Parts: sequence; C-alpha cells; structure tokens
Amino acid sequence: MFEFIQEKITKLFDKLSKRGLLSEQDIDDALKDVRIALLEADVHYRVVKELLESVKQKVMGEELSKSINPSQYLLRVLKTELIGIMGAPAAVKISGTGDIVMLLGLQGTGKTTTAVKLAKYMRDKRGLKPYLVSIDFTRPAAQEQLITLAKAHGFPVNEDVSAKGIGALDDIRLVSARQGCDFIIVDTAGRLHIDTDLVNELKQVKHALHPAQTILVIDSMMGHDVLKMAEGFQQGVGYDGAIFTKFEGDSRGGAVLSFRKIINKPIYYVGVGEAVSALEPFEPERMVARIVGSGDVEGLVEKMSEVVTGEDVRHAQRLAKGKFTFPDFIQQLKMMKRLGPVESLFDMVPGFGKLKKNVRTDTLKQDMKVYEAIISSMTDQERRNPDILNGKRRQRIAQGSGTKPEDVNRLIKRFYESQRMMDILQKGGIKGIQRFLQ
Ligand code: GDP
Ligand code: MG
Repeated sequence: MFEFIQEKITKLFDKLSKRGLLSEQDIDDALKDVRIALLEADVHYRVVKELLESVKQKVMGEELSKSINPSQYLLRVLKTELIGIMGAPAAVKISGTGDIVMLLGLQGTGKTTTAVKLAKYMRDKRGLKPYLVSIDFTRPAAQEQLITLAKAHGFPVNEDVSAKGIGALDDIRLVSARQGCDFIIVDTAGRLHIDTDLVNELKQVKHALHPAQTILVIDSMMGHDVLKMAEGFQQGVGYDGAIFTKFEGDSRGGAVLSFRKIINKPIYYVGVGEAVSALEPFEPERMVARIVGSGDVEGLVEKMSEVVTGEDVRHAQRLAKGKFTFPDFIQQLKMMKRLGPVESLFDMVPGFGKLKKNVRTDTLKQDMKVYEAIISSMTDQERRNPDILNGKRRQRIAQGSGTKPEDVNRLIKRFYESQRMMDILQKGGIKGIQRFLQ
C-alpha cells in the first residue's frame, strides 16, 4: 500500500534536499510533482487540490526561511496534513450483549470474508463470542459460503437458509443469546453497482435490526470511484465507518485517502489477504509513514539541537573517525537522558518502533550510575579495547565498582549493541538502521 506514492515522494525530496533554500517557485514545482504522484495513485482530484492548497499555505510562512532544512520542513508539513486526513485510530464499538454489527457493500468487495475475519479478530483480541448471520435471502449460495467459512473456524452461525424476509430477523438476538454469544455479525447482500433496490433492501434491514455499528466494506482497488459508492451508501443507508479489503494488493492507496478526506468516517480495519486471520487495525500514522517514507528527520534534528552540547559534537566527531568505546557509550547515554523519553524519538523515525522494546528509559538514570561506576573501575586499556574483558577481568571490575557481575555483563551487552548500531549508522545512515530493523 502506498509504495507508489512513497517512491515518487522519496525521489522528489531527495532531489529537493540537495537544494538548500527553497524559493516559492521551487515549492510550486515540488507541489506540482506531489500532485501528479497523488493523482496517478488514483486519489480523488478534490482531495489532492485541498491537500496541496493547505500545504502551500502553511509552508509559505516565515517558518520555512527559519527552518534548518527547508525541504524537510516541507515534507513535515505534508506529513502533518496527511496525518490530519487519516484521522485517529478507531475501534468497532461493541458495548452490550446482543449488539449487532452490520456489514454492507458492493458484491465481491469481501463482506462475507470480512464477517468471519471480524469474528476471529473479536474472539482472539477481545475475547468476545460472535454469532454470524447471512441475510442474503435471494442467494442461498451466499448464505452457504458464510456457513462453511464460519464453521471451518468454529463460529456459531445461522444455518437455517429457509428463513426468508425481514420477519425472520426478529429472533436473531434470541438465537444468538441462546448459544451464549456476545454479539452478532450480519453479512448482507451486495450488487455489482449501487442501485435503488439494494439501498432499499439494506435500509429495511437496518431499520429492523437497529445495529450498534454499521460498517461499509470497501475494496481498496476502487481508487477514486470509492467516493460515489460511499456517498451513495451514506445517503441511502448510512454507516459508521469502513473496513478496506484487499489492502495488500493495492500499491496506490487512492481509495483510502479519498475516503478519509471526503467521507471523513473512521477506517476500523484493513483486510490484507484472503486468510481469515488477515485483518489488521488501521493505523493512521503508520499509513502516513508509508507515504512520506523517510520520517521526521527535521523534527529529530530540531529536538537534538536543543540539547546537544559542544561535548556531544566533539564526541560525534570522534565517533566519525574511529571506534566506538566505553566513554562514547557513556556520552551517548547522557545525551539520551537529556533528550528525554527515547520512545518519542523513535516515533519520529518510521521503522524504529521495534527498537523501543529494547530500550528501557525508565531505568536509564539508575543504570547510568551503575554503568559509570563500572567504567571507572576499568583500566584505560579495557576502556579502549572492550574485547579483552574476559571473565576474570569482569569479576575484578564488579568487585572494584561495588556492583554485581550481572551488571557488568549487562553493560557490556548493551555496549556491543550500541557499537553495532553506531557502525550501521555510520555506514548506511538512518536508512541503514531502518533496513537493519526491517
Ligand atoms: P462479498 O461478495 O462482498 O461477500 O465478497 P467475498 O467475501 O465473497 O470476497 C470476494 C473475494 O475477495 C474472495 O475471493 C475473497 O477471498 C477475496 N478477499 C476478501 N478480502 C480480501 C483481502 O483482504 N485480500 C485479498 N487478497 N482478497 C480478499
Ligand atoms: Mg458475500
């Protein structure tokens, strides 16, 4: 998803970053390229127009000329706008026993598959027991499809395909409760195109069921055509949010952006494959990181420039020249402490999320005291050449610093991790680390 836009945007900003200061003409040219990339990605032209107007407005202020790196600043504004469009993560609300979640959408978008995916998700992640019903009364085959799929995954499902018409819906809640289920997922009939018959039928069903949540299932491949369909269903039937299917196969992402910007309803989940387990929460920030690619480097630089001292700079210069040693490690930890929670730094650079679990900031202050004590008990030679730290030396250092051998081992382990990271960073820059983490 979004690989297409990401490739274009990354290329554009790589080119732009070599230029330093940007004139209004440079910005117009850049935004024209962004515009083409978005339109080619099948984003609706209304969305593209509004997005770029608002980026241009924000970027033309004096912030740009004050900015350390104008092209990064432009990228950051674009990213912020995109995050605004994507909105906040949203969850499907199931608040009481017997709540109904009704799925609707065109034929072939993946409603039936999504019904079972959602059942599995709710069972595995929220510990709820779902009951499944198909009310595609005119197509017994459609009902059979849900029954087969639901049973294959162990979900109670309505198997009475003889029931016809809305009247048969009355006892869905009763049947579900009798089977000890917490909520009900209703799969509905679709058509290839939205028409009055379909809308009227769904309207009646919705009226009879009073669903707690109505979800529009959308095929990601629809591109900007999504708007006509989503507006049609909204006017005719109404829904609370959407699930996008076949997300893994669409590299362009036009449908998602168009839907979020114009329809402005939440996207709860994305379907990422045919398997029943292939359903993931929609994560707006992650989506945007995929579009703009390189991450918020400017934000990182700005934050660092507030706290980085002369000693840090000398330290960095030393690092660029030579080997990473214990004094460098301590300097690095001190800087991390001043930079504040490391988590927020990692959030600025996509791909770094995985690092978070390795870095415990809550114990950093305490660890540092121990680490400093340990390092001061080392000989100069040991500090410069950690590879000679055998068992005997480690024991001596622990004794000398009043720490435990585990502390010394932990420090040495963390030291080697940092050394490895610095090595990758020196060789491949931030991109190198991101590749390493993927
Ligand atoms: P319905 O007509 O809306 O009920 O659609 P179905 O649930 O029958 O799905 C139509 C086709 O899309 C089936 O072949 C599904 O396996 C496939 N499908 C559904 N969701 C996804 C998805 O997220 N990724 C992929 N690749 N295929 C999907
Ligand atoms: Mg179906």
